[in-house]
Amino acid sequence: MNIKKEIETMVPKLVECRHELHSWPETAFEEHRTSDFITKELKSLGLEVEQGIAGTGVVATLTKGEGKREKAIGLRADMDGLDIHEENSFDYKSTNEGKMHACGHDGHMTMLLGAAEYLSRNDTFSGTIHFIFQPAEENEGGGNEMIKDGLFEKYPVEAVFGLHSFPILPLGYFATRKGPMMAAFDIFDIKINGTGGHAAMPHLTRDPIVAASYMINQFQSIVSRNSDPVESAVVSVTDIHGGTTYNVIPETVNLRGTTRHFQPHIQDMVEQRLKEITDGVASSTGVNTEFKYERRYPATVNSSNETDEAIKAASMITGAEKVLTDLPPVMGSEDFAFMLKEKPGAYIALGAGDPKPGGMMHQSKFDFNDEVIPIGVSYWTNLIENLLPLGS
Ligand SMILES: [Zn+2]
Ligand SMILES: [Zn+2]
Repeated sequence: MNIKKEIETMVPKLVECRHELHSWPETAFEEHRTSDFITKELKSLGLEVEQGIAGTGVVATLTKGEGKREKAIGLRADMDGLDIHEENSFDYKSTNEGKMHACGHDGHMTMLLGAAEYLSRNDTFSGTIHFIFQPAEENEGGGNEMIKDGLFEKYPVEAVFGLHSFPILPLGYFATRKGPMMAAFDIFDIKINGTGGHAAMPHLTRDPIVAASYMINQFQSIVSRNSDPVESAVVSVTDIHGGTTYNVIPETVNLRGTTRHFQPHIQDMVEQRLKEITDGVASSTGVNTEFKYERRYPATVNSSNETDEAIKAASMITGAEKVLTDLPPVMGSEDFAFMLKEKPGAYIALGAGDPKPGGMMHQSKFDFNDEVIPIGVSYWTNLIENLLPLGS
C-alpha cells in the first residue's frame, strides 16, 4: 500500500485519539464533548473553527497557496454514536452508559482530524478546505440540519466528499459507484378508525383489523405491479398494533412502515399508491383513516467527475484493482445524501476487514479497525492534492 511516511508516523497518536473518542460516545445533537474535543484539536493545528452549526456541528477551514485560493472543497465526517450498550472489555470501551460508537464514526472523525493535521503541516495544495464534522447521522438527519443552518452559504464548496468504513469489505479495498449508491428512505403512519364491538356480532362493527389486512396485502402490489420491474423499490409494513383480547373487535389499528427507492418518480408513485390504497380500502370497508407520509433521507447520488476523483485518490493507495467502481446500489440510506443533493460529490466505502463475532456494525461488540486510519488519512490527502494542486 502506498502510504506517505509522515502519515505512518502519525498513526500511534491518531489511534490514541480514536480510542479517546470511542470512550465517550454521544448520540444525535448531544455531541457536546465530542464537538469540544474536535474543536480543540483543530485549533491547535491553527485552523479557523466554527462550533455550534446545527447545535453540535463543527466546521474548520484551512486555506493555503496563492493562485486559486477561492476554490474550496468540503470533506465530511460523522460524529454520533448509537443507543447500544457496549459489550467490549478493552480499556477504551464506552464510559457513557447505554451509548456506543458502533458504526465507526469515532474512526471517521479521527481520519479527518489526521488529514487536517497533515495538510496543515505540509504545503502540498493550493486552495481552501472546509472540514465538516456533522452531528446526528444515524437517524435524525444532522447533515440536513447543518445545511438548513447555512452550511454551504457560509462555507461554499465546489464539491463535497464523504466516506464510511465497512467491515464486510476487505481491508485495503474501496468501493463506490457513479449515480445512485444508497436509497432514499421515507416513513408512513396509518391510523385506521373503525367501529369496535362484540366479536360475535361483526355485522354491527366496522372492523379495522380486516381493513388493515387488506391494506397490507394490497401494498405488496405497489412494487410488483406499479413499479417498473427494472427500477428498485421497497415497501415494508414494520409495525401493526390493534386489539386487546379474543372477543372484542377493536376501534382502531395503527400501521407503520418504511419505503426505499432511488428515483424521485418512483418515490412519488409509492407515496401516491399508498394513499390511494388506504383511501380505497377505507371506502370499501367503511372505516376512516389518517394517513401520514414523511420523506426522510433522499437517495445518495454520486456525481460523475467527483466519483472519478474519489476512485483516483483511492487507487493511488491500493492500486486500481482494489477499488471497486461498480458497487451494486444498496437499499440502506445515508444522511450524506442531503449534502450530495446540494453539491456535486462522492461517497466511498472503505474496507475494514472481517469483523469478529458480534462485531458487525450496530452490534454491541463492534470496534473500528485502527488499521484503516492511515488508509483513510491518505485518501483525504490524495483527494485534496489532486483537486487543489499546487501552482494552480
Ligand atoms: Zn450506523
Ligand atoms: Zn455510520
